[in-house]
Amino acid sequence: MSVTERIEELRSLLAPARREGRSIGFVPTMGYLHAGHLTLMQRAREENDVVVASIFVNPLQFGPKEDYQRYPRDLARDAELAREAGVDFIFAPSVEEMYPQEMLAQVDVARITDRLEGAARPGHFRGVATVVAKLFNIVQPDRAYFGQKDYQQLLVIRRMVRDLSYPIEVVAVPTVREEDGLAMSSRNSYLNPQERQAATVLIRALRLGRERIESGERNAQRVRTAMQELIAQEPLARLEYLSIADPETLREQETITAPAFLSLAVFIGKTRLIDNLLIETL
Ligand code: AMP
Repeated sequence: MSVTERIEELRSLLAPARREGRSIGFVPTMGYLHAGHLTLMQRAREENDVVVASIFVNPLQFGPKEDYQRYPRDLARDAELAREAGVDFIFAPSVEEMYPQEMLAQVDVARITDRLEGAARPGHFRGVATVVAKLFNIVQPDRAYFGQKDYQQLLVIRRMVRDLSYPIEVVAVPTVREEDGLAMSSRNSYLNPQERQAATVLIRALRLGRERIESGERNAQRVRTAMQELIAQEPLARLEYLSIADPETLREQETITAPAFLSLAVFIGKTRLIDNLLIETL
């Protein structure tokens, strides 16, 4: 496995594979790898001749009051884990390598970015779409792997790929969870032991919502209220948003219909966590 921080070097490293018509799978990450990331990498390994992973904490996708500076970083550990998962090339550029000058060209995906994470984090998806577009142009993969944990991001990337005709297959990978249901996230490392306990409130609320729907509740507002009440019982939790929406348009549902997309963002202390569940059939 080789690690490079240079765009031109990565291009030269990938040139022989491309010439020989070998397929390239790509896993973009912000590093501080956990089992969720590794599942994406293993899947890429199974489905491609060459696997590239990027590790880049992208300043464009963080708001001014967010955790860009304190976001956890450990390239040496990440490189070892990625190697074990079967990654061939790690691309770990500096901010200067990716953004040597002000980014006058950026990618905006309209409408589906107005809601949920897009509403809570203005500019976030513009930063995501821009860095992924740039990474796609650098790596030129055949397939790219994204987690359903960041479901709206997956929608945004799929739409960008379609609208801008990237010749890339976007592969969605189910959310990997801790034993108690907490979705794996690099940000879980911020949690102290008490907060780590409290953080299970996200999946508990989602599962409660799913249960209510499975037992026949069709009034979306009643399901939201039940979920909100559960979260209100957790003193370390502060709900930012909670949604039951159409998984394509992300418009809120009044009457529950399948498929239904349940999602939420919750602060546990100072740590902002997100999670979601997709209900495919009623
Ligand atoms: P990040 O490093 O948080 O930007 O995540 C990089 C990729 O890993 C994204 O496609 C995420 O959706 C995916 N990912 C993060 N956490 C998980 C998880 N718990 N399960 C599956 N995929 C994940």
